[in-house]
Amino acid sequence: IKFRAEDLQTLLVLGAGSGGVVTKIIKMGVHDTAEQQKLEKQILRELRILRLCQSPRVVSFYGAFLHDGDINIMMEHMDLGTLERVYRKTGPIPERIVGQVAGCILEGLIYLYEHHKIVHRDIKPSNILANSLGEVKIADFGVSKELSNGTQAATFTGTQGYLAPERVREGTACTPASDVWSLGLTLMELAMGAFPIPAEALPSIFDLLEFIENEPSPTLPAGRFSPEFCEFTAACLIKDPKQRPHPKQLLDTAFLRQAAAMAGTGVLAQWTQSLVPVLQQ
Ligand code: ADP
Ligand code: MG
Repeated sequence: IKFRAEDLQTLLVLGAGSGGVVTKIIKMGVHDTAEQQKLEKQILRELRILRLCQSPRVVSFYGAFLHDGDINIMMEHMDLGTLERVYRKTGPIPERIVGQVAGCILEGLIYLYEHHKIVHRDIKPSNILANSLGEVKIADFGVSKELSNGTQAATFTGTQGYLAPERVREGTACTPASDVWSLGLTLMELAMGAFPIPAEALPSIFDLLEFIENEPSPTLPAGRFSPEFCEFTAACLIKDPKQRPHPKQLLDTAFLRQAAAMAGTGVLAQWTQSLVPVLQQ
């Protein structure tokens, strides 16, 4: 067994002798077992791929290093924070802005698939970030299987709510189609100002997973949103992944064509500027 001071916790002092103190300790960490070191090296190797991902729709990754058993990741600062933070502080995001956000996310996803064969795996409002220049970018895409497995275990209560039905069943890998499912739920959440599967129906995380697999997909309340937006989210939330559209096909929908037509008007930059007094950090 290997020992390091930071892995050991003193439980009690058993006695003091002439030459020193005898304590009862417990070994806590797994910091420097051979497997742990191998795993960390593997994660760092996989993270290096992220440096090659450079797109205006993707939060820039500068590098990563190990320190004290933690993986430290350097990335671009997005001064308005996540879109989860935005809607929690300012309320539901207007549909025309959600359309712009949808365009940014889709372009980011298409870039990752086409240039790097990367699927995101973890699209949700807290992984979409905004800055005061009017840029919206995706972050935290799961290149590293090890890292994303860790993330999933750690956030068993949160992130799994965005899993596509085919991924709820264990062993199904993430595909572009499963990112599209998560995109649909994310856009609904931004526009409604709340996660679209009502929490009161779900006493536990297991009920949430069962809900995703067995219940009809959530839908937007038609009166509050345009038919184009309702149609768009319905397509993202088609339960059969083979029937669900690919990100590129989603660019060619009425909702996204409208958004593209407005993209040059500076609507997104105006919106992020309006958030600066409340949200800049
Ligand atoms: P999660 O995505 O589950 O919220 P993370 O560890 O990825 O957990 O991020 C934690 C928080 O740190 C985010 O919710 C966000 O507020 C903040 N954050 C993450 N990345 C950035 C970034 N590039 N710029 C600014 N804030 C960030
Ligand atoms: Mg994140």
